[in-house]
Amino acid sequence: MRQVDLVDDVGEVGTAVLETLAAHIATVRTGAGEVVSSADIDAVAKRLELRRWVEEGGMTLPELLSFVTTYSDISASHHHPGYMAHQIAPSDTPGVVADLLQAVTNNIPLVYELAPAAAAVDRAVCHWMLDHVGWGETGTGAMTNGGTLGNLTALLAARSHADATAWRDGNAHDLVVLAPATSHYSVRKAAAVMGLGERGVHPLPTDALGRIDPAELAPTLAEVRAAGKRPIAVVANGCATGTGLYDPMAEVADFCAADDLWFHLDGAHGASALLSPRLRGLLAGIERADSTVWDGHKMLRASALCTGVLFRERHYLDTLFKQDASYLYRPENEDVDPGQFTFETSKAPLGLKILLTLAYRGEAAMRAYVERQYDLAAHLWELIQERPDFTAPYAPQSNILCFRYEPWADRQLELRSRLIQDGRFFLSSFQLGGSPYLRASLMSPNTDRDTLRELLDVIVEVAEM
Ligand SMILES: *Cc1c(COP(=O)(O)O)cnc(C)c1O
Repeated sequence: MRQVDLVDDVGEVGTAVLETLAAHIATVRTGAGEVVSSADIDAVAKRLELRRWVEEGGMTLPELLSFVTTYSDISASHHHPGYMAHQIAPSDTPGVVADLLQAVTNNIPLVYELAPAAAAVDRAVCHWMLDHVGWGETGTGAMTNGGTLGNLTALLAARSHADATAWRDGNAHDLVVLAPATSHYSVRKAAAVMGLGERGVHPLPTDALGRIDPAELAPTLAEVRAAGKRPIAVVANGCATGTGLYDPMAEVADFCAADDLWFHLDGAHGASALLSPRLRGLLAGIERADSTVWDGHKMLRASALCTGVLFRERHYLDTLFKQDASYLYRPENEDVDPGQFTFETSKAPLGLKILLTLAYRGEAAMRAYVERQYDLAAHLWELIQERPDFTAPYAPQSNILCFRYEPWADRQLELRSRLIQDGRFFLSSFQLGGSPYLRASLMSPNTDRDTLRELLDVIVEVAEM
C-alpha cells in the first residue's frame, strides 16, 4: 500500500491552518482574550484532549483546526498589546515562511553539500550581522540555537585562546570568567558546562543598577591574579536581561585591550540596537570586543531560535570544536561547512528567518520596530514620573523597564500574580538591589502609549480588588 505523503494534503491543511492562525492573531492584537492562560497543566491537557489524541488518534481536519485554535488561545500571545513579559518575539510573516520552508525541505546545513541553499543563507546572514558589528572584513561566525549556546561557544573560543590544550586535555584548574552578577544565567551555565564550575565566574563589581563599574576592573583583575587564577574572558551586557541597561562597553574594551583579555559582549537582546543610527551609540566599543552573540528571536521578530555567534577574527575558530570527523568535514571546506563551529550537530538552518525579513520587510522596518519598542519604554518611564504611586529606579536604555507600585512595597510578586489572573496584562519580575520589581519588556508591536497608561490603571485596579 502506498504511504500517504505530504503532497497529498499539505496544500489543503496548510491553507486552512494558516487562515485559522491569522484569524486568531487578528483577534489577539486588538487586546481580546487573556494574554496567557493561568490554568494548571492538567486542566490544559484536558482542554486539549491530549489523552484522546495520544491514545486514539483519528483527528479530522475540522478537529485539527479546533485544536489549533484552542492551542493558540491557551498559549502566551506575543502579539497581544498587554504582553510585556519575557523577551520573546511576536513573530512576523517572513519568519513563519522560513519555518514552513524548513519544515518541508528539512535541510540541515551541517556540511555544505547537505544543504547548499541553507548554508549560503546562513553565511549571508552572519555577514550581515558582522557588518553591523563592524567585523565585516576580519570576522566570522555561525548561526546557533540561542544565546545560551552562543555564549557557551564564545566562551569556549575564549578558553582556547587562553589555553589551546584545554579542548583535548581538559581544563587547567586556574581558569575563571569575569562577569557582573547581572550577566545572563547562561554565562554561569556555560562556565559550569565547561568544567569551571559556576564559581568559576568571578563577579565584577557594579554600580547600584548592576552595570560594570570600570574603575573596579583593574583592582578586580589584580585580586583574581593574586589568588592564582587566570581570567579567560571579561563578559559585558549589551544589554542586561533584567534591567535592559547597557554596560559601559568602551571602557571595558579599553581595559581588555590593555591587558590582552578576551572581551565577550553578550548582545543577545540588545545588539539589535546596532540597526539604528540613533541607538547604536549604546554599543559603542562593540567593534573592539572579541566575540558577541545576537539573538534574532528577540528584537528581530524571528521565531525561536535564531542566534548569530560572531567573532572579530577568523583565526579565533582555528582551535574551536576541533573534532575529528573526517567522514563529514574536510579542511578545504572550512569556509562553507558551518557545522564545524557550532555546538549542535544536526540543526535547522536559522538565518532564513532574518534573510526573508530583510528581503520582504526591509531593514528599515526592522530598525523602526527596535526604535519604536525602545521609545515605548521611555514613554512608560515618563508616565511613571507623573504618578506618585509608581517609581522606576532608572530611565530605560532599551525596551525593558523595572518599576514598582509603591503602596504594595515588597509584595510586587503577589501583585504580578493578580495581574496575570486578571488576564489583560502579562509582566515579568526582577530582583534589583535585593528588592522585587515588576518588569516590563515591551515586545508587542500592538502595545501603544494608551496601553501603557491602561497598564498603570489596571495595576491600581487589581491592587484595590
Ligand atoms: C535572552 C538572553 C540570553 C539567552 O539567550 P537564549 O536565546 O534565550 O538562549 C543570553 N543573554 C542575554 C543578555 C539575554 O537577554
